Amino acid sequence: MDDLFFNQDHIMIQDMVREFAESEIMPIARELDEEEKFPTELVKQMGELGLMGINVPEKYGGSGLDMVAYATAVMGLARADASVAITMAAHTSLGTLPILLHGSDEQKKTYLPKLASGEVIGAFGLTEPEAGSDAGSTKTMAVKKGDDYIVNGGKIFITNAGKAGLLSFTSQIKHEDKLLGIGAFVIPTATAGLEIGPKEKKMGWRASDTRQLFFHNMKIPSSAMLGDPTDGFRTFLKTLTSGRISVGALAVGTAQGAYERALQYSTEREAFGRPINNFQSVSFKLADMATDIEASKLLIYHAAWMKDQNKDIVKEAAMAKLFASETAMRVATDAIQIHGGYGYVKEYDVERYFRDAKILEIGEGTSEIQRLIISREILKELQHNAL
Ligand SMILES: Cc1cc2nc3c(=O)[nH]c(=O)nc-3n(C[C@H](O)[C@H](O)[C@H](O)COP(=O)(O)OP(=O)(O)OC[C@H]3O[C@@H](n4cnc5c(N)ncnc54)[C@H](O)[C@@H]3O)c2cc1C
Repeated sequence: MDDLFFNQDHIMIQDMVREFAESEIMPIARELDEEEKFPTELVKQMGELGLMGINVPEKYGGSGLDMVAYATAVMGLARADASVAITMAAHTSLGTLPILLHGSDEQKKTYLPKLASGEVIGAFGLTEPEAGSDAGSTKTMAVKKGDDYIVNGGKIFITNAGKAGLLSFTSQIKHEDKLLGIGAFVIPTATAGLEIGPKEKKMGWRASDTRQLFFHNMKIPSSAMLGDPTDGFRTFLKTLTSGRISVGALAVGTAQGAYERALQYSTEREAFGRPINNFQSVSFKLADMATDIEASKLLIYHAAWMKDQNKDIVKEAAMAKLFASETAMRVATDAIQIHGGYGYVKEYDVERYFRDAKILEIGEGTSEIQRLIISREILKELQHNAL
């Protein structure tokens, strides 16, 4: 299947990430999870390998690769450790993309080289206590005062928040008592008035850094705005659409890692005098897992390829994210079942894959929201075709 979407760059990225993941990530993945340790050294290495700037054009110091390459890299990292993969993905897709898509020349020149090298980590703040799926209910408020904005409010569940040097976020925009809509800004996290909350204790993605952010009368210049003052919501929705390929690729990698462990275990574990994969109930589970992973990969690569052709991917990205994330949860559940009691203890990695899989059905749009988007798109097509 790789032949369908891959060129030499993609093969090179796949091989490089596989080698890096197996030699550097896999040996410490369990420790990072147990100790909830942010993978600082791995981030540095990913910067050196060009992964932190994989989607940034070469003129800004990035690797200048396309979405298929990006998805391949995220899959390869997540196969070893989803926390490392989301750290890289939240930085490149969420943290960097808004600047790539909507930044001014000045913002691009100032921020992209540092993001691309991994010297500065990026984060993206959309979610608020009362604005998750309903992201348009943003309460954070930026009031124009002279050449500046004064921002009050906050964000929750922000990936990389405690390690990021740069934050893009959405806010309501007010000019002279008039609400203009939702805008977006990019700011250094060292900005006065930005308080970074304590690290969240999570079920999975435990080595990834997730925190709440508070804005207290935070003064930022007008030049920190990303794009049009009232276009921030659309800016972030575009970022989220690409982000769905990202989370879908994470899901494929997570499912693949869990599947490989279950396959291996099924050859080693014996019951009733034979390897358990001699039992059809086990081998059929493996067959379903392999088939669903293959289908997820196809959906992700297809959506990524469409994005590279500048096609509209709202429906395809939502379908790919939905199917891949639900596959990851199913595969991780079956991987535990194949391990029996050993699947439930930390001696085997499948319990980590299981905990890491659940968030994939929630982050960057829950499964319910993906179904909402897909059904809306299907009905739109129906109406369009009827005209
Ligand atoms: C580990 C982690 C990392 C994250 N990283 C980031 C980040 O970096 N940046 C960021 O901005 N956000 C981040 N998030 C937030 C994440 O995107 C949201 O949690 C997610 O979008 C869901 O929003 P919510 O938690 O408010 O759930 P809610 O929106 O409250 O949803 C609760 C339930 O209601 C359902 N629901 C809501 N509306 C509808 C509807 N219209 N139709 C049907 N069902 C509906 C949902 O599907 C869900 O089952 C992260 C979250 C986690 C846990």
